[in-house]
Amino acid sequence: MDVKKIMVVGAGQMGGGVAQVAAQAGITVVLNDIKTEFVERGLGIITKNLERSVAKGKLSEEDKNAALGRIIKSTSLEDASDVDVVIEAAVENMAIKAEIFKTLDKVAPAHAILSTNTSSLPITEIAAVTGRPSQVIGMHFFNPVPVMKLVEIIRGIATSDEVYKTIEALTQKINKVPVEINDSPGFAVNRMLIPMINEAIFCVYEGVGTPEAIDSVMKFGANHPMGPIALADLIGLDTCLAIMDVLYDGFGDPKYRACPLLRKMVKAGWLGQKTGRGFYDYSKK
Ligand code: NAD
Repeated sequence: MDVKKIMVVGAGQMGGGVAQVAAQAGITVVLNDIKTEFVERGLGIITKNLERSVAKGKLSEEDKNAALGRIIKSTSLEDASDVDVVIEAAVENMAIKAEIFKTLDKVAPAHAILSTNTSSLPITEIAAVTGRPSQVIGMHFFNPVPVMKLVEIIRGIATSDEVYKTIEALTQKINKVPVEINDSPGFAVNRMLIPMINEAIFCVYEGVGTPEAIDSVMKFGANHPMGPIALADLIGLDTCLAIMDVLYDGFGDPKYRACPLLRKMVKAGWLGQKTGRGFYDYSKK
């Protein structure tokens, strides 16, 4: 299937980024959120991003205007009635996603593929609320979407090969790198990345080194662009903890036990950059 029109559900951090890259690739995008002000806010960020690219000489004024002209504002899922693909990027909550997928299943055309950008919920479970589980798939983008190249394409238990191929081609069309992954707790990136961060926090907890020392060894000894503790502060310690708990619950394996220090920091509300304090102090920045 040649994908010409998509709907992006959720105009937040991720949905806005997905809408931007798709519109820049020539696809018509219906950008949906629950309130007009949220759609406007998302569109405002996309406009600023594109204006910045124009100022840097990376994008022409005409291409910027053409991309913006491809984005249609929506506050009703009924607007999915003529799209080929939906990319859902609403909040990370199973009950909310289930409601969205039930509605989309009713209003989207029979040929439409329903995808989700969930970072931790099982694709197979989301697919099961619809009458078209073979047409449900995960498209896991990374933040910030216009910069990060990877999309983990996650097959649910029933996802068809044809649907996989269409989504793989769509991912390439929007200039991203697709990698096929089977539905499993944490998918692949987070299953490797977050336990590494958790282990780094254990090193701080057990006095192996200070946060600065742990970050330095991984930067200068493993060539990581950023140390794992600083990365945890960037991702959000609450998000890191939630993913560790998904791995722990999903596998029932004690090797995924979250570090008690991580849990304590989250209880204190020290969530990283977004709250001004995590392992490092951001209050003066
Ligand atoms: P966000 O809070 O920035 O945006 C979520 C948006 O969804 C909000 O604008 C909200 O109003 C909207 N929304 C809520 N309920 C809705 C509904 N019923 N219908 C339509 N819109 C609705 O969140 P985000 O960081 O963009 O995350 C979105 C999804 O992407 C989540 O599933 C998250 O797990 C996943 N994800 C996030 C990241 C990340 O680094 N932030 C990375 C990969 C995947």
